[in-house]
Amino acid sequence: MKNSAAPFNALGLAQENIADLESQLLKRKLRATHSPCDTKALVDGRKLKAFCSNDYLGLANHPKLIKALAEGAEKYGVGSGASHLISGHSMAHELLEQQLASFQKQHIPNAKALFFSTGYLANLTAITALAKLAPQGSASIYSAKLNHASLIDGVRLAAAQSKASVILFDHTEVDALNALLKNDSNPLKIIVIDGVFSMDGDLAPIKKLLLLAEQYDALLLVDDAHGFGVLGKHGHGILEQENVNSDRIIYIGTLGKAAGVGGAFVCAQESFIEWLIQKGRPFIYSTATPPAIAHTLSKSLEIIDSNEGGNRRAQLNKLIRIWQDEMHFAKWEKVPSCTAIQPVVLGSNANALHAAKLLDAAGYWIPAIRPPTVPQGSARLRITFSANHSETDLRQLIDTLNAIEKQVIDEETHE
Ligand SMILES: *Cc1c(COP(=O)(O)O)cnc(C)c1O
Repeated sequence: MKNSAAPFNALGLAQENIADLESQLLKRKLRATHSPCDTKALVDGRKLKAFCSNDYLGLANHPKLIKALAEGAEKYGVGSGASHLISGHSMAHELLEQQLASFQKQHIPNAKALFFSTGYLANLTAITALAKLAPQGSASIYSAKLNHASLIDGVRLAAAQSKASVILFDHTEVDALNALLKNDSNPLKIIVIDGVFSMDGDLAPIKKLLLLAEQYDALLLVDDAHGFGVLGKHGHGILEQENVNSDRIIYIGTLGKAAGVGGAFVCAQESFIEWLIQKGRPFIYSTATPPAIAHTLSKSLEIIDSNEGGNRRAQLNKLIRIWQDEMHFAKWEKVPSCTAIQPVVLGSNANALHAAKLLDAAGYWIPAIRPPTVPQGSARLRITFSANHSETDLRQLIDTLNAIEKQVIDEETHE
């Protein structure tokens, strides 16, 4: 082949586009850790205090789960070998799904669960398959503006595949959503929302949304990635915490955050789950997660449901209260949140990056979160707590943040 002299435009475009990102302070960087996910991380040979993972209960490096993974591999091997509908569906998956459904059975009548390798795939599958319940062009999807990227992509894919109408709404303005639904004559309406907003930490108004869903015959799809394991007395998630029960709920939980392992699930009435198995393309055409992972997750659910899980949630809630009571900034903005996600909004990308760098120099790992993950002009530090953090860990962080804010304000006034 003698085509080395042909113009190679794509490479030039890639380099230019990356340079553009760099100049806007939007280029992201990977950092490889040498240590397991925990409150201390070994990065680039340095030991950092990490306040950035979603391992809220501190289970990602739990000895019982490490043992369960080894045991699962002994019992089931390391790979599933095929998609679930071919031959990859193991008893380990089946048992996990039963356990997951039992967590929601008081909130969703006739609940069944379907396990996925990631939350991203669970969301793509659920939204696209549900939109196919109605004839082309006759579904409406109401999607909250601050929803997670995987919900947004699921909605976009459903719009492309099923010609569904997409209507964006502000989750803090339920009355406006009411007005939109009132004038909608489509036979299938789906409201799509994060249970806990992943970059702000606030909760969706589930009860109000459920009333609307009932009034206008809509489905309510709740992505509880940051609530499962953490919210509710037993850690069953936002439906337990809000004490709701409805056959209109499509509940999605992820298992790589509080559950500490990886994967996700959709839980809904049996017929909806059956429909996902029939028509959910990402489910159908993807290799089943290794059964050893499902086996490990069963153990993780046992811990979540046990006294130990309750103690871990109590520790997390103690940390959240300390932060709310004791973290006072002079100028920086604390976002009102009652969850383990506690963002500090700094506005410009430069400010957020500068603060993250100072934190790094002080021995902390708290990355700056920038657009498009958050809206323009709201770059922030996203601070998250784990049950493995001590009160002393948190109070030291509060002192460090106070000192860094003071330093940044002093620098600004001397410029
Ligand atoms: C993390 C996250 C997901 C994706 O889950 P993965 O299992 O990491 O793919 C989906 N939705 C929300 C709200 C999330 O925060």
